[in-house]
Amino acid sequence: VKTIGIIGGGQLGRMLAMAAARLNFRTVILEPQVDCPAAHVANAQIVAAYDDAAALAELAKRCDVVTYEFENVPVAAAEDLALQVTVYPPPKALEMAQDRLTEKSFINGCSIPTARFHAVDSQADLETALADFGGQGVLKTRRLGYDGKGQRVYRSAADSAEGGYAALGSVPLILESFVSFEREISIIAARGSDGKVACYDPAENVHRNGILHTSTLPASISEQTAAEARKAAEKILTALGYVGVIGIEFFVLADGSLIANEMAPRVHNSGHWTEAACVISQFEQHIRAVAGLPLGNPDRHSDCVMTNLIGDDILALPEWLRLDDTLVHLYGKTEARSGRKMGHVTQLLR
Ligand code: ATP
Ligand code: MG
Ligand code: MG
Repeated sequence: VKTIGIIGGGQLGRMLAMAAARLNFRTVILEPQVDCPAAHVANAQIVAAYDDAAALAELAKRCDVVTYEFENVPVAAAEDLALQVTVYPPPKALEMAQDRLTEKSFINGCSIPTARFHAVDSQADLETALADFGGQGVLKTRRLGYDGKGQRVYRSAADSAEGGYAALGSVPLILESFVSFEREISIIAARGSDGKVACYDPAENVHRNGILHTSTLPASISEQTAAEARKAAEKILTALGYVGVIGIEFFVLADGSLIANEMAPRVHNSGHWTEAACVISQFEQHIRAVAGLPLGNPDRHSDCVMTNLIGDDILALPEWLRLDDTLVHLYGKTEARSGRKMGHVTQLLR
């Protein structure tokens, strides 16, 4: 492998391109937006939509393997691309991850528990589903939701369900039972083309306004819970014949057991700490996997906290830069719109 194609040119694509460069790989990104975060570090860019057949054919011709930085690459386009060039992770992972209904069914099929759920395709469906969960639940769009967008929480039977279906856009929805969790964790894991699996330590995640705020290592969980997360990751990776890095989110219940929430077939925001606290980051791990190189050791050499810099958080940059043992990583975005991920910092705790 000499050249790696990356579909998507956001910050994840940028960090993948940086890791690829260090191992002497060239990168070509496919991204419609010209001035995107990855444009400044990739070797070349094809400016076109993610499902543009001609652009994908060109990407296939110019690259030895193609990967992606986001889970909403249209499955048909990815499958078509896979007939022309190796695509890792396999398009099946996209298919299982981009619709919450398919995703939860798949995860349950791996004998990993999730919240209970009902498909909701009408207001009547919503009312039936809510009644089944005693009036509590989280209503979500099945597709394209991120950072808590496209969600509505029902806390009790007193919360009016009226207009709930239309409020989320009259698109296919899912009602999940409300999980009273003690904390949230995620695991970043990788599978190489030789089938070997490497798991990073689970991170404990705190969200603010629906967006990941901090990931802390170690998570306050037992070794048994950590082992359960690793086991779940291994099952999912194996079931998909996966190659690359995956991020899987879990809720931790009071008794330490895990409920899987969602998975992302790509490098993950809650794995950014690995660049500071491990010798091999999730980005290099992903590049190693898709390029057919041996996976790196995922062991963590330090405790740490990763904090996202969202919107105006970036104004505190001078203070972060003055802290010891703190790795600052910026994404090259000029306009700090509210809710926009501008960068992140990882502070080693030692
Ligand atoms: P991401 O940006 O991580 O992709 P997302 O928009 O896909 O987020 P989820 O991860 O499904 O959304 O949900 C966002 C957050 O909402 C979760 O991290 C959790 O805090 C809360 N949440 C989601 N589903 C449930 C549930 N069934 N019960 C309780 N809380 C939930
Ligand atoms: Mg998500
Ligand atoms: Mg999530």
